[in-house]
Amino acid sequence: MIAPATSIGHTYDVVVVGGGPSGATAAHELARAGHDVALLDRAGRIKPCGGAVPPQLMADFDVPESLLVNRVDTARIISPKGRHVDIPVGDGFVGMVDRDVFDEWLRERAAQAGARRITGSFESFERDRADRLVIRFREGGSRSGQLRSIRTRMLVGADGALSRVARQALPDEAAKAQFVFAYHEVIASPELEDEHFGAARCDVYYEGELSPDFYAWVFPHGDTTSVGTGSARKGFSLREAVSELRDRTGLHDVETIREEGAPIPMKPLPRWDNGKDIILAGDAAGVVAPSSGEGIFYAMTGGRFAADAVHAALATGDVRELARARKRFLRTHGQVFWVLGIMQRFWYSNDRRRERFVRICNDRDVQELTFEGYMRKQLVKARPLAHAKIFWKNIGHLTGLARA
Ligand SMILES: Cc1cc2nc3c(=O)[nH]c(=O)nc-3n(C[C@H](O)[C@H](O)[C@H](O)COP(=O)(O)OP(=O)(O)OC[C@H]3O[C@@H](n4cnc5c(N)ncnc54)[C@H](O)[C@@H]3O)c2cc1C
Repeated sequence: MIAPATSIGHTYDVVVVGGGPSGATAAHELARAGHDVALLDRAGRIKPCGGAVPPQLMADFDVPESLLVNRVDTARIISPKGRHVDIPVGDGFVGMVDRDVFDEWLRERAAQAGARRITGSFESFERDRADRLVIRFREGGSRSGQLRSIRTRMLVGADGALSRVARQALPDEAAKAQFVFAYHEVIASPELEDEHFGAARCDVYYEGELSPDFYAWVFPHGDTTSVGTGSARKGFSLREAVSELRDRTGLHDVETIREEGAPIPMKPLPRWDNGKDIILAGDAAGVVAPSSGEGIFYAMTGGRFAADAVHAALATGDVRELARARKRFLRTHGQVFWVLGIMQRFWYSNDRRRERFVRICNDRDVQELTFEGYMRKQLVKARPLAHAKIFWKNIGHLTGLARA
């Protein structure tokens, strides 16, 4: 039994901790379904992120195009030897969002659907005599904020890669999380385009010096540009790699607006719920696509699936419903994650393989299927011959039968 520092004397149906894409989506959907929802988010920090999103996200989550600060029509893949392949996006696009504006819009949409927004930093949960969850948080988000508590029937942990909710509710699973550490510098976009910068082009560098096991990038956002890299390797200096990339691309002397980094989870946790009243979503559940590090779309999908599972559990009283969120996610996206995981482990392991990887990307079928897959978020089934061709190409390269 606890004595809450301040009790609001009210039991919510659901408290969502974290107002990023996953939490804001979960809060929006639960509020829209008629539940009494609180969205607890600590304010004051813009999520470090390249901000690239697929059109499928706009369609699935009814996000207006006015939130896009740029529409990219080409991805340039650059090899260790400096060879590049330009992959046109076709009639689609890669959207760019600025996370301060994007996340706030999602949180505000949740509020308009009826979720109560609370600014504060989640500390821990406990249980009252009736075995109800009591959520403790620091008001305002700072360490010196007043300690408050609220009661709830269900808790959604959407508080990012280093989720406190996950570490308390599912400590064994949270301890198994695997990360790539990513760092980027937000710079003023150069006024002129050249071979190293295109205002509507994403540049992706596959090279050991810039990242020994992931990739480095230049993503244009209109007035600003994100230049970043990621790696899971301890001791690898992400800052030095970004500095090197900026040197090489003539982006060293442009104004630096922000420098920031964060971990990206690389493997869905083995469990997302406690079998009772707590469920994780988004980065907190480990849900980011391997190879690409794409997390926003999957965080929103995870938020939606968590909301559906909580809704079903509240409606039926059957808490086994909570486990369906993870099953549903893996049924929908598990195959793509599996393939991307194999690709990352194989193709990103040394410069010789990276050189071959870029060569494979020269293939028209690979380009079309890659972008179809990115934009529509499913393995494209319509072109079995192209799949077969790519499959055998990959096998050839994986086994070394094909020549680099
Ligand atoms: C450098 C970098 C570049 C990336 N680039 C891309 C990209 O281009 N495209 C893409 O799709 N993905 C990208 N990602 C991944 C993407 O940013 C994440 O997968 C996505 O933000 C996950 O959303 P989320 O809502 O689960 O978590 P988050 O976005 O991390 O949101 C968590 C929220 O919880 C809040 N919070 C945390 N702790 C507490 C607490 N104790 N109490 C209250 N609130 C709390 C935070 O303030 C935040 O609002 C990138 C990641 C990094 C680090």
